[in-house]
Amino acid sequence: MKTVKSPFKFKGGVHPDYNKELARESAIERMATPAELVVSMSQHLGAPAKCIVKAGDFVRRGQLIGEKNGFISVCVRASADGQVKAVEKRLGPAGGMADAVILDTTAALPEDLPPVEPLKPLDWKNATREELLKRVEEAGICGMGGAGFPSAVKLNPPPGKRCEYLILNGAECEPYLTADFRVMLERADRIRTGVEIMRKILGMPAVRIAIEANKPEAIAAMEKAFADIEGNVEIVVLPVLYPQGSEKHQIYATVGRVVPEPPALPIDVGCVVENVGTVAAIADAVEKGEPLLERVTTVSGDAVANPKNVLAPSGTKYSDLLAFCGGTKEDAAKVISGGTMMGFAVSSLDIGTTKTTSGLLFLTRKKVFQYSSQACINCGRCLRACPMNLNPAEISKAVESDDIKTAEDAHVMTCIECGACSFGCPAYRTITQYCRRAKNSIRARMAAERAAAQAAKAANP
Ligand code: SF4
Ligand code: SF4
Repeated sequence: MKTVKSPFKFKGGVHPDYNKELARESAIERMATPAELVVSMSQHLGAPAKCIVKAGDFVRRGQLIGEKNGFISVCVRASADGQVKAVEKRLGPAGGMADAVILDTTAALPEDLPPVEPLKPLDWKNATREELLKRVEEAGICGMGGAGFPSAVKLNPPPGKRCEYLILNGAECEPYLTADFRVMLERADRIRTGVEIMRKILGMPAVRIAIEANKPEAIAAMEKAFADIEGNVEIVVLPVLYPQGSEKHQIYATVGRVVPEPPALPIDVGCVVENVGTVAAIADAVEKGEPLLERVTTVSGDAVANPKNVLAPSGTKYSDLLAFCGGTKEDAAKVISGGTMMGFAVSSLDIGTTKTTSGLLFLTRKKVFQYSSQACINCGRCLRACPMNLNPAEISKAVESDDIKTAEDAHVMTCIECGACSFGCPAYRTITQYCRRAKNSIRARMAAERAAAQAAKAANP
C-alpha cells in the first residue's frame, strides 16, 4: 500500500469557503431515538420502496417495512421499535413528496408481538459472492454520499463488464460537511473490512482511496488501517478543488479515465465508486448483521449553537437534530439539507433524515448571499468553472426562455448539478436551478415517451 498524489487534474472547478472548522473536531455523537420518526420509502435513487405496514401496526427495529420495488430500488427497515401512526405522503429534502411511515417510538410493544428474525453475521471470508451481494441488498444499503444508488446493483456489474478499480470516495468536498471525515477517523477499521468484502464481491480489483489534501488526519487514519493490506491498494491525495467528490471527476483524478456521457456509468470504464460511509455500512451489514438504519449527519452552520456530527436513526426529524445540537444561537435565514453547493434549501423542519442525509445547515443572514438574478453579461466565468465542459450561460438563457430543446442540444443531461457555475456568477444567475429544471423536463418527456411506447406495444402485441 502506498500514498500518492493525484497525477490528473480535471478542467474547471471552484474554491468555495469550506467552513469545516465548525464541526470537524466534533467526534460522532449518537442521539437517543426521538419520540417520532418520519421514515421515507424514497431514501435512495430509483423506485420508492413499497410500504408493507399500515397505521396501527407495531414494528420492531430492523423489521422490513418497505419492499424493494424494482431493479433500481432499495428496501427500507424500521429504524426503531414503535407503532405506525400513519402512512402518508411527506415532504422530502429535495422538495418532492413520498410515502413515509410515521412511527411513534414511545408506544409499548405488545408482549405477544413475534420477534423479528435478525440478519445473521456472515463469515465474509468463507461466504460466497452471491451471499455477500444478497446481504448488501437485504440490509437496504445505498450510496450514502448523496446520490443513493443501490449498492447491490453497483457491486454486481452486468455481463461483459468488469471492475478493475474500486474507488473509495473520501473527498467530502462540500463546504461545512465533516461526517465522512469523522467516519474515516473513527471507523477506519470498518472501512478496511468493507473494502475487503467489496474486493471479494468484485473479483479483487485494485483499490484507490481518494481523499482531499485538506484532510491529513483522515489520510493518516487510512494509511494506518490499510498498512498491511495485500494487493494493489493506493491512497490518492487529491488537490483541494470543488467538485472533487463528484464520481466522474474522482475517477479521472485517481485513474485518469473519462466516463462518457449518460447513460454510460463508471463501470463502463472499469470503475466502481463508493462513499466511505457506505463501505463501513457494508462491513457492519455483513460482519455484524446490522441493516442500514442510521447514519452520521453533520449539523452545522453559523446559526447552530453546537455544531456536531450526529449519529441518528433514519427518519429523525430535522427539528430533533437541531434540538440535539442546542438549537440556534441566532436566527437562521436559510436551512439547507446537504451542503451549500449541491444541497436543497428546505422550508420545514418536519422532514425526516434519509440514508443520504449527509448534512443539515443553518445559516444566518450574514452567510446567505442576498441577490436578485440579473441578465447574463457574457463574462464566461461559468464556462471556465464548469467541470463538465458545458456552456452554462447558454443553457440558463435557453431554459429561461422555456427552450428546453436548445438546453438538451447543449448536453444539459451531462450536468452533475455541482453548482460551480452559479458560484461566482457576477449576475447572480441561478444557473444550476435552470439546469435542474431542464433535466427534470427532459426526464418527464422521456418517461412519457416510454409509457406511450409500452401502451402501444400492449395494444398491438
Ligand atoms: S458567469 Fe453569469 S454572467 Fe458570466 S457568462 Fe456565466 S451566466 Fe453569464
Ligand atoms: S452546468 Fe452543471 S456541471 Fe456545469 S458547473 Fe453548472 S451545475 Fe456544474
